[in-house]
Amino acid sequence: MDLNKLTIKKAKEGLKRKDFSSVELTKACQKAIKQTDHKLNVFITLTEDEAIKNAEKADKLIASGQDLPLLGIPIALKDMFSTKGIETTAGSNVLKGYIPPYDATVVTKLKNAGAIIIGKTNQDAWAHGSSGENSDFSPTKNPWNPEYVPGGSSSGSAVAVAINMALAATGTDTGGSIRLPASFTNTVGLKPTYGRVSRYGIVAMASSHDSIGHFTKTVEDSAIFLGVTAGKDEKDATASDLEVPDYTKNLQNRIKTLRIGVDPEFHSKHIESESVSLLAKAYNTIKNLLESDIVPDISLPHSKHATACYYIIQPSEVSSNLSRYDGIRYGNGRKNFGQEAKRRIILGTHALSSGYYDQYYNKASQVRTMLINDFKKVFENVDAIIAPVSPTPPWKLGEKVDDPLKMYLSDIFTVTANLTGLPALSIPIGFTKNGLPVGMQIIAPHFSEEILFQIGHAFEQATQNEDWRQKEPNL
Ligand code: GLN
Repeated sequence: MDLNKLTIKKAKEGLKRKDFSSVELTKACQKAIKQTDHKLNVFITLTEDEAIKNAEKADKLIASGQDLPLLGIPIALKDMFSTKGIETTAGSNVLKGYIPPYDATVVTKLKNAGAIIIGKTNQDAWAHGSSGENSDFSPTKNPWNPEYVPGGSSSGSAVAVAINMALAATGTDTGGSIRLPASFTNTVGLKPTYGRVSRYGIVAMASSHDSIGHFTKTVEDSAIFLGVTAGKDEKDATASDLEVPDYTKNLQNRIKTLRIGVDPEFHSKHIESESVSLLAKAYNTIKNLLESDIVPDISLPHSKHATACYYIIQPSEVSSNLSRYDGIRYGNGRKNFGQEAKRRIILGTHALSSGYYDQYYNKASQVRTMLINDFKKVFENVDAIIAPVSPTPPWKLGEKVDDPLKMYLSDIFTVTANLTGLPALSIPIGFTKNGLPVGMQIIAPHFSEEILFQIGHAFEQATQNEDWRQKEPNL
């Protein structure tokens, strides 16, 4: 078997048994990159020899009996994550050539856990987008069909994991940027609770929404990864000091007794029909795993306003965060901002301007509170909610890029978790007749990532022998 196809769990076992070395594992990933990156445009920067040097160090540590959660595991980082000495662009020409003098806290934690960073992945500039096409470094393509988008904004990270260029990859999710590309590439994508993972050193998009997560091949790997990245950080006051549980510990046990509700949007007429049948089938599988056949009725009366609310508050925060890139600190001037960044700066500045502030920003903030209250109420009766990720499967490159409103509407099912700060997991549930992946979302109360993993893992186990699970991209 190709080593790069292993999960983190299996790779760790193999490394421990000395079946292969971290250098061999890292080289297998680098080979996959050499073979297909020119077709899909996944990476902006590769660490090449540096990765091999670090893998050699990891092999020495393994030989000496060290056991760290990600020791010797090759991973990729979205180019939003500051990496000391490695160019970090956020997908934008504004930051081209910028070499951070420090690591983001998450990067430090990943390094301390023994992970090998093999490169920085492509993304929509500043993480603005749902398709990857807003990248100033050309779009990433979907490995399941390169004429289609892989979802964005964490497009490169999703694809890197989908075609085994890395065993896992980090992403950021401000309105769906992990979950959407995960569902478009047949990978597992986690958006943790707001504040579960430090944002320090990660290029800010919309600070009250930004959630730092990751892509993996399995739910169990996602649990392993979160165990490394989660936790308090003295450099980020919004990073929670709640204890980080061992997320892998109770994966097997609890699904039977969980009460799982279905987002009313599940039956939304906006969802394309093939996705509807895949979602229904996946939900049935989950229902069969539960003890009770009572499906709790849930109502989320304000979720229909979520997208409008998000596209007021988010650009407001974007306009504030991007004002620092004025050419004084990072060399390149404002002229390098692309269309989408300019659009958001203008929208946000308008929504925050005196006279409009109450009408837009304040109103949207009030709706946000109503949404939070909707979910609080729902979680009095259920442990988790099942929801769609995207109204459609992946679309063709170029199809929506000139119509921002159409693009924004692809976020209708993902933005609620960001407005409310809730954790959400996107898991693969199958393929359309055209061979394009579809995902499903699980949402749980704040800091209940364990529940997401329990449900996701149980679903994975229940479907592991189904035909679609054996599919591989054919490039
Ligand atoms: N597609 C959404 C947007 O463009 C979400 C982006 C994100 O999560 N970074 O705002």
